[in-house]
Amino acid sequence: MARATQAIIDLHALRENYQLAKRAAPHSCAYAVVKANAYGHGVAQVANALAPSADGFAVACVDEAVTLRELGILLPVLVLEGPMDLQECQTAIDLDLQLAVHNAQQVQWISSLSSGCIHVFVKVDSGMHRLGFAVHEVPGVVSQLRALNVVSDIQLMSHFACADETGHPFIEQQIKAMAPLAAMKLPMSLCNSAAVMTLPQCHQHSIRPGIMLYGSSPLVDKTGSQLGLLPVMTLQSEIIALHDVRAGDSVGYGQAYIAKQDCRIAAVAIGYGDGYPRSAKKGTPVLIRGQKRPIAGRVSMDMITVDVTGMEVALGDTVTLWGTGLSADEVAKFCDTISYELFCQITARVKVRYLGS
Ligand SMILES: *Cc1c(COP(=O)(O)O)cnc(C)c1O
Repeated sequence: MARATQAIIDLHALRENYQLAKRAAPHSCAYAVVKANAYGHGVAQVANALAPSADGFAVACVDEAVTLRELGILLPVLVLEGPMDLQECQTAIDLDLQLAVHNAQQVQWISSLSSGCIHVFVKVDSGMHRLGFAVHEVPGVVSQLRALNVVSDIQLMSHFACADETGHPFIEQQIKAMAPLAAMKLPMSLCNSAAVMTLPQCHQHSIRPGIMLYGSSPLVDKTGSQLGLLPVMTLQSEIIALHDVRAGDSVGYGQAYIAKQDCRIAAVAIGYGDGYPRSAKKGTPVLIRGQKRPIAGRVSMDMITVDVTGMEVALGDTVTLWGTGLSADEVAKFCDTISYELFCQITARVKVRYLGS
């Protein structure tokens, strides 16, 4: 049998999660966010699975939008960071892409286009200070864009910095900062997954759910399953060796783990060469035969070691690193990161299998 390390992607769960976003914001157009290879889940399969039900897709850059068009996706595609040069504006026209516009240079490029028709999302900096025009600049930018023949539609968009922490005062501060823009009566897009779940007053015209589609919780104080989300990626491998070690023996590189008592150690065929994070701390759980067991010692490139003392295990047993039965959110906490990063870091060595296509 070949190396068992694989990511199983449940496309049925993905579609269910998209429907959950739609039910949460029934009057909004939901752009499924599929940037970064669909958060590491495989953009071709994810986009094809969602295309029959999705209102549109959102990606980070024009290259990712081109990929969607090459896949035959005909739905609206929103480019969240907008064009990086004039050529990309032309590409947007040729491929009917929707562009975020967050700075004056992008407005200039669009002004220089002679023909075609483009839907723009004017990005408002409501407090995150990453991208966007200051609130007071927005009316001017909008009138500049309105004067252009190539601009067919204008929406406003913004992004919340702290929507994952329900009730965080900065959420209200950002909403207040944007209040003057309501008078412009333009359609708006404000919500990532966290805001989709917690800020119905902000759903407006379009929403941009990302991580929730993949089954992780967008909220720090709720789990995905509490929100009714289904895990999409299950990362698995198997036990390839079992060793009884004595109290005082060490396990793995740097003797980072010293057995306090006699114990049984399983070597599992997955490591940072597969994208399993080396930052996984002592005690990070994996799932074996339905039980959570702690990793013991450092993550190597191709292996991890797990304390399986006292449980019935055998060579070839499936080990789930995250997915059904053990959420990526829970694992991410042990690695000082978020599930977004765990998903994006899966490497090409991991075989990917799709269910429910
Ligand atoms: C990535 C991204 C999203 C999706 O965020 P999630 O937290 O994954 O739901 C929405 N809007 C913008 C601008 C983004 O960059």
